[in-house]
Amino acid sequence: MKYQPIPDYHMHTPRCNHAVGEVREYAEMAIQRGLQEIGMSDHSPMPGGFDAAWRMDLNELPDYLREVESVRDEFAAKLTVRVGLEADFHPGTEEDVQMMIDGYAWDYVMGSVHYIGDWAFDNPDEEVRWEQINIEDAYCDYFDLVARSAATGMFDSIGHPDLIKKFGQRAPAGSKRVDKAESLMLEAVKASESVLEISSAGLRKPVGEIYPHSRIVKKAAAMGVPFCFGSDAHAPVEVGHGMDACLDVLQSYGVREVVAFEKRQRRMIGIREIR
Ligand code: ZN
Ligand code: FE
Ligand code: FE
Ligand code: ZN
Repeated sequence: MKYQPIPDYHMHTPRCNHAVGEVREYAEMAIQRGLQEIGMSDHSPMPGGFDAAWRMDLNELPDYLREVESVRDEFAAKLTVRVGLEADFHPGTEEDVQMMIDGYAWDYVMGSVHYIGDWAFDNPDEEVRWEQINIEDAYCDYFDLVARSAATGMFDSIGHPDLIKKFGQRAPAGSKRVDKAESLMLEAVKASESVLEISSAGLRKPVGEIYPHSRIVKKAAAMGVPFCFGSDAHAPVEVGHGMDACLDVLQSYGVREVVAFEKRQRRMIGIREIR
Protein backbone atom coordinates (compact mmCIF):
# COMPACT_ATOMS: atom_id res chain seq x y z
CA MET A 1 0.00 0.00 0.00
CA LYS A 2 1.17 3.47 -0.90
CA TYR A 3 -1.51 5.19 1.19
CA GLN A 4 -2.96 4.77 4.63
CA PRO A 5 -6.13 2.74 3.92
CA ILE A 6 -9.40 4.70 3.83
CA PRO A 7 -12.92 3.29 4.30
CA ASP A 8 -14.28 1.01 1.59
CA TYR A 9 -18.02 1.64 1.48
CA HIS A 10 -19.19 -0.60 -1.32
CA MET A 11 -19.60 -4.34 -0.88
CA HIS A 12 -22.31 -6.90 -1.42
CA THR A 13 -23.68 -10.15 -0.03
CA PRO A 14 -25.11 -13.24 -1.75
CA ARG A 15 -28.64 -11.87 -1.17
CA CYS A 16 -28.28 -9.88 -4.40
CA ASN A 17 -27.82 -13.18 -6.27
CA HIS A 18 -24.54 -12.14 -7.92
CA ALA A 19 -22.09 -11.91 -5.01
CA VAL A 20 -20.38 -14.47 -2.79
CA GLY A 21 -19.12 -14.51 0.80
CA GLU A 22 -20.45 -13.84 4.26
CA VAL A 23 -20.18 -10.38 5.81
CA ARG A 24 -17.69 -11.86 8.27
CA GLU A 25 -15.42 -12.87 5.37
CA TYR A 26 -15.51 -9.34 3.94
CA ALA A 27 -14.60 -8.01 7.39
CA GLU A 28 -11.78 -10.51 7.83
CA MET A 29 -10.34 -9.61 4.43
CA ALA A 30 -10.54 -5.91 5.32
CA ILE A 31 -8.52 -6.51 8.49
CA GLN A 32 -6.02 -8.63 6.61
CA ARG A 33 -5.55 -5.75 4.14
CA GLY A 34 -5.06 -3.18 6.91
CA LEU A 35 -8.39 -1.38 6.54
CA GLN A 36 -9.89 0.23 9.63
CA GLU A 37 -13.36 0.79 8.28
CA ILE A 38 -15.74 -0.77 5.77
CA GLY A 39 -19.40 -0.46 4.92
CA MET A 40 -21.72 -3.08 3.51
CA SER A 41 -23.98 -1.76 0.75
CA ASP A 42 -25.94 -4.58 -0.79
CA HIS A 43 -28.41 -4.02 -3.64
CA SER A 44 -31.67 -2.86 -2.09
CA PRO A 45 -35.06 -4.37 -2.74
CA MET A 46 -37.14 -2.54 -5.34
CA PRO A 47 -40.90 -2.07 -5.40
CA GLY A 48 -42.96 -4.36 -7.56
CA GLY A 49 -40.21 -6.96 -7.83
CA PHE A 50 -38.39 -4.83 -10.43
CA ASP A 51 -35.28 -6.71 -11.65
CA ALA A 52 -35.67 -9.05 -8.68
CA ALA A 53 -32.99 -11.44 -9.96
CA TRP A 54 -30.24 -8.88 -9.26
CA ARG A 55 -31.11 -7.71 -5.75
CA MET A 56 -32.31 -8.85 -2.36
CA ASP A 57 -35.98 -9.38 -1.73
CA LEU A 58 -37.77 -7.07 0.69
CA ASN A 59 -38.17 -9.97 3.12
CA GLU A 60 -34.38 -10.52 3.10
CA LEU A 61 -33.69 -6.99 4.35
CA PRO A 62 -34.09 -7.80 8.08
CA ASP A 63 -31.71 -10.72 7.72
CA TYR A 64 -29.18 -8.53 5.87
CA LEU A 65 -29.33 -5.97 8.66
CA ARG A 66 -28.98 -8.63 11.35
CA GLU A 67 -25.91 -10.14 9.69
CA VAL A 68 -24.17 -6.78 9.23
CA GLU A 69 -25.05 -5.63 12.75
CA SER A 70 -23.78 -8.83 14.31
CA VAL A 71 -20.44 -8.64 12.46
CA ARG A 72 -20.24 -4.94 13.32
CA ASP A 73 -20.69 -5.69 17.02
CA GLU A 74 -18.40 -8.70 17.07
CA PHE A 75 -15.56 -6.92 15.21
CA ALA A 76 -16.00 -3.56 16.97
CA ALA A 77 -12.57 -3.67 18.65
CA LYS A 78 -10.62 -4.22 15.41
CA LEU A 79 -12.72 -2.91 12.53
CA THR A 80 -15.45 -0.31 12.10
CA VAL A 81 -18.30 -1.81 10.10
CA ARG A 82 -20.93 0.58 8.74
CA VAL A 83 -24.43 -0.42 7.72
CA GLY A 84 -25.27 0.89 4.27
CA LEU A 85 -27.32 0.14 1.23
CA GLU A 86 -26.93 0.55 -2.52
CA ALA A 87 -30.33 1.90 -3.48
CA ASP A 88 -31.43 2.40 -7.06
CA PHE A 89 -32.60 5.59 -8.62
CA HIS A 90 -35.32 4.58 -11.03
CA PRO A 91 -37.93 7.28 -11.68
CA GLY A 92 -41.30 6.34 -10.21
CA THR A 93 -39.88 4.32 -7.32
CA GLU A 94 -38.75 7.28 -5.18
CA GLU A 95 -41.53 7.00 -2.63
CA ASP A 96 -40.91 3.33 -1.91
CA VAL A 97 -37.16 3.87 -1.77
CA GLN A 98 -37.62 6.80 0.61
CA MET A 99 -39.76 4.62 2.87
CA MET A 100 -37.00 2.02 2.97
CA ILE A 101 -34.44 4.72 3.75
CA ASP A 102 -36.63 6.13 6.53
CA GLY A 103 -37.18 2.66 7.99
CA TYR A 104 -33.70 2.15 9.40
CA ALA A 105 -30.82 4.11 10.97
CA TRP A 106 -28.42 3.69 8.03
CA ASP A 107 -24.85 4.90 8.23
CA TYR A 108 -25.20 5.86 4.56
CA VAL A 109 -27.36 5.17 1.55
CA MET A 110 -25.68 5.19 -1.83
CA GLY A 111 -27.79 5.99 -4.85
CA SER A 112 -26.90 4.20 -8.07
CA VAL A 113 -28.31 4.31 -11.58
CA HIS A 114 -28.33 0.88 -13.21
CA TYR A 115 -31.31 1.39 -15.57
CA ILE A 116 -32.23 3.63 -18.46
CA GLY A 117 -35.96 3.03 -18.71
CA ASP A 118 -36.39 -0.74 -18.70
CA TRP A 119 -32.81 -1.35 -19.86
CA ALA A 120 -30.33 -2.63 -17.26
CA PHE A 121 -27.45 -1.23 -19.30
CA ASP A 122 -24.73 -2.73 -17.07
CA ASN A 123 -26.24 -6.21 -16.99
CA PRO A 124 -24.25 -8.70 -19.11
CA ASP A 125 -27.54 -10.35 -20.11
CA GLU A 126 -28.67 -7.08 -21.70
CA GLU A 127 -25.37 -6.09 -23.31
CA VAL A 128 -26.77 -6.92 -26.77
CA ARG A 129 -29.03 -3.88 -26.51
CA TRP A 130 -25.94 -1.70 -26.86
CA GLU A 131 -26.01 -2.63 -30.55
CA GLN A 132 -29.50 -1.19 -30.97
CA ILE A 133 -29.12 2.19 -29.30
CA ASN A 134 -27.34 5.49 -29.93
CA ILE A 135 -24.32 5.57 -27.61
CA GLU A 136 -24.24 9.36 -27.31
CA ASP A 137 -27.93 9.37 -26.30
CA ALA A 138 -27.28 6.60 -23.76
CA TYR A 139 -24.50 8.62 -22.12
CA CYS A 140 -26.68 11.75 -21.99
CA ASP A 141 -29.68 9.84 -20.64
CA TYR A 142 -27.47 8.17 -18.05
CA PHE A 143 -25.87 11.38 -16.76
CA ASP A 144 -29.30 13.01 -16.71
CA LEU A 145 -30.59 10.19 -14.48
CA VAL A 146 -27.56 10.49 -12.17
CA ALA A 147 -28.19 14.24 -11.94
CA ARG A 148 -31.83 13.56 -11.06
CA SER A 149 -30.79 10.96 -8.48
CA ALA A 150 -28.62 13.55 -6.74
CA ALA A 151 -31.31 16.21 -7.01
CA THR A 152 -33.74 14.06 -5.01
CA GLY A 153 -31.51 14.67 -2.00
CA MET A 154 -32.30 11.12 -0.89
CA PHE A 155 -28.78 9.73 -1.13
CA ASP A 156 -25.58 10.28 0.84
CA SER A 157 -23.35 9.20 -2.01
CA ILE A 158 -23.61 8.65 -5.75
CA GLY A 159 -22.33 5.22 -6.78
CA HIS A 160 -19.90 4.60 -9.68
CA PRO A 161 -20.88 7.88 -11.40
CA ASP A 162 -20.07 6.85 -14.99
CA LEU A 163 -21.09 3.19 -14.87
CA ILE A 164 -22.49 3.65 -18.39
CA LYS A 165 -18.98 2.96 -19.78
CA LYS A 166 -18.74 -0.47 -18.11
CA PHE A 167 -18.59 -2.60 -21.28
CA GLY A 168 -16.35 -0.13 -23.09
CA GLN A 169 -18.79 1.59 -25.46
CA ARG A 170 -17.61 5.19 -25.74
CA ALA A 171 -19.46 8.39 -26.46
CA PRO A 172 -18.07 10.16 -29.54
CA ALA A 173 -14.83 11.91 -28.58
CA GLY A 174 -15.39 15.57 -27.77
CA SER A 175 -19.19 15.27 -27.71
CA LYS A 176 -20.49 18.62 -26.46
CA ARG A 177 -23.79 17.01 -25.43
CA VAL A 178 -22.08 14.44 -23.22
CA ASP A 179 -19.73 17.05 -21.78
CA LYS A 180 -22.73 19.21 -20.90
CA ALA A 181 -24.65 16.27 -19.37
CA GLU A 182 -21.58 15.39 -17.30
CA SER A 183 -21.25 18.95 -16.02
CA LEU A 184 -24.97 19.18 -15.19
CA MET A 185 -24.63 15.92 -13.27
CA LEU A 186 -21.75 17.32 -11.23
CA GLU A 187 -23.64 20.55 -10.58
CA ALA A 188 -26.56 18.50 -9.25
CA VAL A 189 -24.25 16.53 -6.98
CA LYS A 190 -22.68 19.75 -5.74
CA ALA A 191 -26.05 21.43 -5.15
CA SER A 192 -27.41 18.40 -3.28
CA GLU A 193 -24.32 18.25 -1.09
CA SER A 194 -23.93 14.55 -1.77
CA VAL A 195 -20.66 12.72 -2.20
CA LEU A 196 -19.24 11.22 -5.37
CA GLU A 197 -17.99 7.66 -5.14
CA ILE A 198 -14.63 6.90 -6.74
CA SER A 199 -14.82 3.20 -7.56
CA SER A 200 -12.19 0.67 -8.50
CA ALA A 201 -14.81 -1.71 -9.95
CA GLY A 202 -14.28 -0.49 -13.50
CA LEU A 203 -10.69 -1.72 -13.34
CA ARG A 204 -12.12 -5.26 -13.18
CA LYS A 205 -14.62 -4.70 -16.03
CA PRO A 206 -14.16 -4.57 -19.82
CA VAL A 207 -13.65 -0.78 -19.72
CA GLY A 208 -10.57 -1.27 -17.51
CA GLU A 209 -10.89 2.18 -15.88
CA ILE A 210 -11.78 3.69 -12.54
CA TYR A 211 -15.29 5.17 -12.19
CA PRO A 212 -15.61 8.05 -12.78
CA HIS A 213 -13.19 8.97 -15.59
CA SER A 214 -10.29 11.16 -14.44
CA ARG A 215 -11.77 14.01 -16.51
CA ILE A 216 -14.84 13.89 -14.26
CA VAL A 217 -12.73 13.62 -11.11
CA LYS A 218 -10.85 16.69 -12.23
CA LYS A 219 -14.04 18.70 -12.83
CA ALA A 220 -15.57 17.53 -9.53
CA ALA A 221 -12.42 18.31 -7.56
CA ALA A 222 -12.32 21.83 -9.03
CA MET A 223 -15.95 22.29 -7.90
CA GLY A 224 -15.16 21.09 -4.37
CA VAL A 225 -17.37 18.00 -4.61
CA PRO A 226 -16.27 15.51 -1.92
CA PHE A 227 -15.40 11.87 -2.64
CA CYS A 228 -15.74 8.54 -0.90
CA PHE A 229 -14.19 5.24 -1.99
CA GLY A 230 -15.79 1.95 -2.95
CA SER A 231 -14.38 -1.27 -4.36
CA ASP A 232 -17.87 -2.58 -5.21
CA ALA A 233 -16.66 -5.95 -3.91
CA HIS A 234 -18.92 -8.83 -4.93
CA ALA A 235 -16.47 -11.28 -3.30
CA PRO A 236 -14.32 -10.93 -0.15
CA VAL A 237 -11.12 -11.03 -2.24
CA GLU A 238 -12.16 -7.72 -3.87
CA VAL A 239 -12.29 -5.74 -0.60
CA GLY A 240 -10.07 -2.68 -0.86
CA HIS A 241 -9.14 -3.52 -4.44
CA GLY A 242 -7.69 -0.58 -6.38
CA MET A 243 -7.65 1.77 -3.40
CA ASP A 244 -4.16 3.07 -4.13
CA ALA A 245 -4.99 3.65 -7.79
CA CYS A 246 -8.11 5.66 -6.84
CA LEU A 247 -6.18 7.67 -4.25
CA ASP A 248 -3.50 8.41 -6.85
CA VAL A 249 -6.19 9.92 -9.10
CA LEU A 250 -7.66 11.98 -6.27
CA GLN A 251 -4.22 13.19 -5.19
CA SER A 252 -3.33 14.20 -8.73
CA TYR A 253 -6.30 16.59 -8.79
CA GLY A 254 -5.53 18.09 -5.42
CA VAL A 255 -8.10 16.14 -3.39
CA ARG A 256 -6.62 15.83 0.10
CA GLU A 257 -9.41 14.14 2.03
CA VAL A 258 -12.26 11.67 1.65
CA VAL A 259 -15.58 11.24 3.40
CA ALA A 260 -16.38 8.83 6.23
CA PHE A 261 -20.02 8.15 7.14
CA GLU A 262 -21.74 7.42 10.42
CA LYS A 263 -25.51 7.63 10.88
CA ARG A 264 -25.73 9.70 7.70
CA GLN A 265 -23.31 12.28 9.10
CA ARG A 266 -20.04 13.04 7.36
CA ARG A 267 -16.53 13.36 8.66
CA MET A 268 -13.44 14.05 6.54
CA ILE A 269 -10.39 11.79 6.62
CA GLY A 270 -7.07 13.01 5.31
CA ILE A 271 -5.36 11.08 2.50
CA ARG A 272 -1.95 10.11 3.80
CA GLU A 273 0.94 8.49 2.02
CA ILE A 274 2.74 5.81 4.00
CA ARG A 275 6.43 6.53 4.10
ZN1 ZN B 1 -23.92 -5.80 -7.97
FE1 FE C 1 -23.96 -0.64 -8.67
FE1 FE D 1 -22.47 -2.46 -5.88
ZN1 ZN E 1 -22.68 -1.61 -7.01
